[in-house]
Amino acid sequence: MKIAVANEIEICERRVALIPDTVARLVKKGWEVWVESGAGERAFFTNADYEAAGAVIIPESDRLWAEADILLKVSPPQEREDGRLEIDLLKPGAILIGFLNPLGNPEIAQGLAQRQITALSMEMIPRTTRAQSMDALSSQASIAGYKAALIAAAALPKYFPMLTTAAGTIAPAKVFIMGAGVAGLQAIATARRLGSIVEAFDIRPAVKEEVQSLGAKFVEVQLEEETATAGGYAKEISEASKQRTQEVVTAHVKNADVVITTAQVPGKKAPLLVTEEMVSQMKPGAVIVDLAAEQGGNCACTAPGKDIFHNGVTIIGSINLPSSIPVHASQLYAKNLTSLMHLLIKDGQLQIDFADDIIDAACITHAGEIRNSRVQEALAVPSA
Ligand code: NAD
Repeated sequence: MKIAVANEIEICERRVALIPDTVARLVKKGWEVWVESGAGERAFFTNADYEAAGAVIIPESDRLWAEADILLKVSPPQEREDGRLEIDLLKPGAILIGFLNPLGNPEIAQGLAQRQITALSMEMIPRTTRAQSMDALSSQASIAGYKAALIAAAALPKYFPMLTTAAGTIAPAKVFIMGAGVAGLQAIATARRLGSIVEAFDIRPAVKEEVQSLGAKFVEVQLEEETATAGGYAKEISEASKQRTQEVVTAHVKNADVVITTAQVPGKKAPLLVTEEMVSQMKPGAVIVDLAAEQGGNCACTAPGKDIFHNGVTIIGSINLPSSIPVHASQLYAKNLTSLMHLLIKDGQLQIDFADDIIDAACITHAGEIRNSRVQEALAVPSA
């Protein structure tokens, strides 16, 4: 059985699906690992590193795609410069695993089903205790939260820490984090390490203790409705609750030097937390980093992938931050992928066991069918 690591042809993707250390572990288990020549280069892993780990380097991309039994990617398959679709290069019955974005781009699932590909999408791994080691959304969101704090610190025309110097005392920066999930908690931890004063807000009161344990103040808003599902995910809140939260958070946004927004409700457009009016009330020189830029943005002024300047405030709509830390992002992603593969391969044999809740949730296409109801629903909705 050939496990293949493809080159990421998307220009802004620097991560690679497996790193040499992980390849060595798979090879030790008796698996054959093929790596497309140069696949790890943008993450600083050379062909020689992979060869030393026991991988076979394949210079011909078409051959790697055509002969792979399991093809591993980071970002979704693309259209090549010559107009060919990468999914058309796979052999029927092959397994494709990666961030396939099946809810944002459900047509990809249609193409994969037509090609008889068994596709597992890393976004669909449930955030359960058993699936923790495979939870690539979390491993990568944590990197994004860390980087968001660094980007904010670099863009702020002030120091983050308090400093007492011979030339006077510098007050610490005030950072307000909105959304204290995986990315938000890492942003809090990083902003604290850089010496700023941190406040955080989330509609789920359950995160209060985690926020406080990181040394930040939790901004509480009493809402008269359930804000989390039984599984612990955030729910979309009513208009009345949105208004109530806005009344409370407006003062904190106004007072902040930096706002980092990370709020999301799974499967929904990002909630709008910072209106244009709120941005207008912020201090000149203040910085907003909006991690939800690609999901519609938590701030009304956000443009994905761009820096916007509005009344002296910089709004940064960073996308794909994990790719900017490709060494560790690839290391963690490789671990997530191999944990998932251990569920798929038992005694050297492939077994797609849909009785396993993780495989059932992650597998979006199999035997010519689109298996996931959310993907089917997304396909049924005509795009705007
Ligand atoms: P998460 O689900 O772990 O956390 C989101 C948090 O938002 C939850 O704690 C939830 O309770 C909270 N929330 C929901 N609605 C809210 C509201 N109205 N007000 C306040 N809080 C609210 O998600 P995550 O994995 O931390 O990801 C956060 C965001 O970062 C997502 O939009 C994700 O797509 C994005 N992300 C961006 C990048 C990037 O490079 N830009 C990378 C990874 C993740």
